[in-house]
Amino acid sequence: MMDLATLEQEMTAWRHDLHAHPEFGFEETRTAAFVAAKLREFGLDVAEGIGGTGVVGTLTRGSGNRSIALRADMDALRIAEQGHRDYISQTPGTMHACGHDGHVAMLLGAARMLAEEGGFDGTVRFLFQPAEEWGKGALAMLDDGLMQRFPFDEIYGLHNMPGLAIGRFETRAGPVMSAEDNFEIVLKGLGGHAARPQAGNEVLVAACALVTNLQTIVSRRLSPADIAVVSVTELITDGTRNALPGLARVLGDARSFRPEVSADIERQMRTITQGTALAYNLTAEVNYTREFVPLNNDAALVEEAFAAARTVFGDDSVRIAPEPMTASEDFARFLEHVPGCFVFIGNGEGSAPLHNPNFDFNDAGLLPGARYHAAIVRRRLPVA
Ligand SMILES: [Zn+2]
Ligand SMILES: [Zn+2]
Repeated sequence: MMDLATLEQEMTAWRHDLHAHPEFGFEETRTAAFVAAKLREFGLDVAEGIGGTGVVGTLTRGSGNRSIALRADMDALRIAEQGHRDYISQTPGTMHACGHDGHVAMLLGAARMLAEEGGFDGTVRFLFQPAEEWGKGALAMLDDGLMQRFPFDEIYGLHNMPGLAIGRFETRAGPVMSAEDNFEIVLKGLGGHAARPQAGNEVLVAACALVTNLQTIVSRRLSPADIAVVSVTELITDGTRNALPGLARVLGDARSFRPEVSADIERQMRTITQGTALAYNLTAEVNYTREFVPLNNDAALVEEAFAAARTVFGDDSVRIAPEPMTASEDFARFLEHVPGCFVFIGNGEGSAPLHNPNFDFNDAGLLPGARYHAAIVRRRLPVA
């Protein structure tokens, strides 16, 4: 058995190095080179440039023909870091505000542990994916032939969770994280002098009515049994203080857990927009895009993940997540190809929220995270 205290120190040093050098989605060249060098040092087969900056490490032991994938995300966010930690971001305006530095360090730790100790029979794929934050990195790897070039039967991933105590582990069967859709509605009319509203058909009053009417999609048009969110986040016009606008843009974001609900939200949004535009004598256009698909865990593999987690975190620290989250994760794209399980591990009750300028991954989660990755591999690819 390897010395876990030494491994923990190493992972902490890697994490701080990655934290100091954050890179935005599809620009993770330094991070990818760092990952590839470590994996080679541990003796894995390494392929780089998968879906842009993605890296795949492959480790085989024994003669088993089954294969499972473990995945970490590598990208940072365009947020200016606050605070005084000595490994603070060296790149102005970019930081690891979602803890992906920790996810990378953990998966490297698991690779080292499994390469040195073995204890499984089959093939493990270590996937380091780019650009999770804008929902494009997993798809980029899949479009680059990931499943054909590096096939696997199951996939596992994790995310740190602020508010959940260190050493706690949660997940659930079925829906875990939501789909994310984005929308932009453009209203056009005849703007003009602020003193002569009767001469035109300006758009601001209509846009305000539209923002209010959109609230009825969730409250009055979807089934109460369905979970969904429709949030208007921007209202932009071309008016100035004494000129009525002729153009208004209403932008926002919708979350749901089933494709039928997402389709229904779009349909209702188009109907409400056309009706509102008609009432105010305007023209309207709706652009509705789907950014993330819903993340659904395989029920049987959730039980496997819980069993592996109990050996690491202890019986009392592993529990079923009480409800799905209306945040999104592009790990869901892999689950469209193979079954798998996505889980959350505590980042501490006092942790700043994800995507906050004061957020920092809690290093106390590194070793349990790496051990969980190794435990699921040994459980799913047992030595005969
Ligand atoms: Zn994030
Ligand atoms: Zn994240």
